Amino acid sequence: MRVAEIHNGKIEVVTVDDIKLGDRTGAIVKVLGCGLCGSDIVKFREHISKEGTVLGHEIVAQIVDINSKSGFKKGDKIVASHHIPCFRCAYCKGKSYSMCKHFKETNIVPGGFSEYVYLSEEHLLNVTHLIPKNLTEEEVSFYEPLGCCVRAVKRASLSPLSDVLVIGLGTIGLLMAQTLKAFGMTVYGCDLMQDRIDRANALGIRAFNSKNLDEAHKYIYEHTHDIGVECVFMTSGADAAIDVALQTVRLGGKILVFSSTPRNTGYKNNDIYYKELTVMGSYSPRPQDLETSLQLLTNGEVVVKHLTTVYKLDDIQKAFDDTIANKIMKAYIKIGE
Ligand SMILES: [Zn+2]
Ligand SMILES: [Zn+2]
Repeated sequence: MRVAEIHNGKIEVVTVDDIKLGDRTGAIVKVLGCGLCGSDIVKFREHISKEGTVLGHEIVAQIVDINSKSGFKKGDKIVASHHIPCFRCAYCKGKSYSMCKHFKETNIVPGGFSEYVYLSEEHLLNVTHLIPKNLTEEEVSFYEPLGCCVRAVKRASLSPLSDVLVIGLGTIGLLMAQTLKAFGMTVYGCDLMQDRIDRANALGIRAFNSKNLDEAHKYIYEHTHDIGVECVFMTSGADAAIDVALQTVRLGGKILVFSSTPRNTGYKNNDIYYKELTVMGSYSPRPQDLETSLQLLTNGEVVVKHLTTVYKLDDIQKAFDDTIANKIMKAYIKIGE
C-alpha cells in the first residue's frame, strides 16, 4: 500500500507492506480521504515527528475487513477519530480527557495519509460513525477538527447569552465561531486576511480586520455595555493575538487558548491577578464532543462548504506547502475511491 512518510524534512509517498487484520479485533479501512490538520503542519514544520512518521488523523474511510462487536460491517463508509480517553484515570475523572495517558497512546495505524488504516475495536466502539447521507466526504472530514472546537466551547462553560470574540478566522476559527453561534452566543471575530473576514461575515459573524483594532474595540465595547467580551477564543497562531485578547476581554473574563504560538510568550501574572482572568487551554475532543460535532455538521448549524481544497496523495507535499503559505484554507487529501 502507498503511504506518505516524513523523510529528510519532506513528505514522500512510498510503498510499504499492506496491513492485515489477521486474528485481531477491529477493522482495516480503505482511506477515501484525510484532512490536513494544523497539528500535522506544526509536527512537520517544527520537525517534531520522527523519520518515517505517517501524519494525518482526520480520516473518511470504507471498511474492507472487520472483526468487531460494534455493528459496523464490510462496505460501511465511516468517519473516525484517533484518540480515546480511558475514562478511569485521575485526568479523566478531572475532565482533562486529552491529558489521559491512554488518550495520547491510542492512534490509528499507520496514520491517515495512507491507502489503508487499522482501527482498533476501541476506535470502532467510541470514535467511529457512519457518514450521514446528507454530507459529502469532504464535509464529514471536519468531524474531528470540529470536535476539538466543541470541546473548547464546552470547556469554557459560558451561558448561551455570552458575548465572545474569536481571534483568528482560519478554518478552525470559522468552525469555532459557528459552534459558539450554534450554542446561542453573540460572536465577534477578527483576522488580518480580508477573505477570511468576508467568509466570517457571510456566516453571520461580525468580523473585523485586526489592522483596525480601534474600530473592532469600539464596536465590541458599544455592544457589550462597555465592558468587553466574556471569553476570547485564541485560534490564531500569532503571538500578537495575546494583546488583542487582553484589550477585549472583560474584567473577570476568560481566555481560551487553542493554538501554539511561535515565540511562546505568555499572559502576564499581573494581568491575570488584577483582572481576575481565567486563562485556560483546550486541546482535543472526547467521544461525546465528536458526536456533537457530527450533529452540528449534519443539521447544517456549522457550514464547511467551500473551505477545502482537494489534493491527490501524490501532491501531498504541495498541500503542506500551500497550507503553510496561507494559499488555501484547508487541504483534503483524496486517497481512495
Ligand atoms: Zn485534527
Ligand atoms: Zn484516562
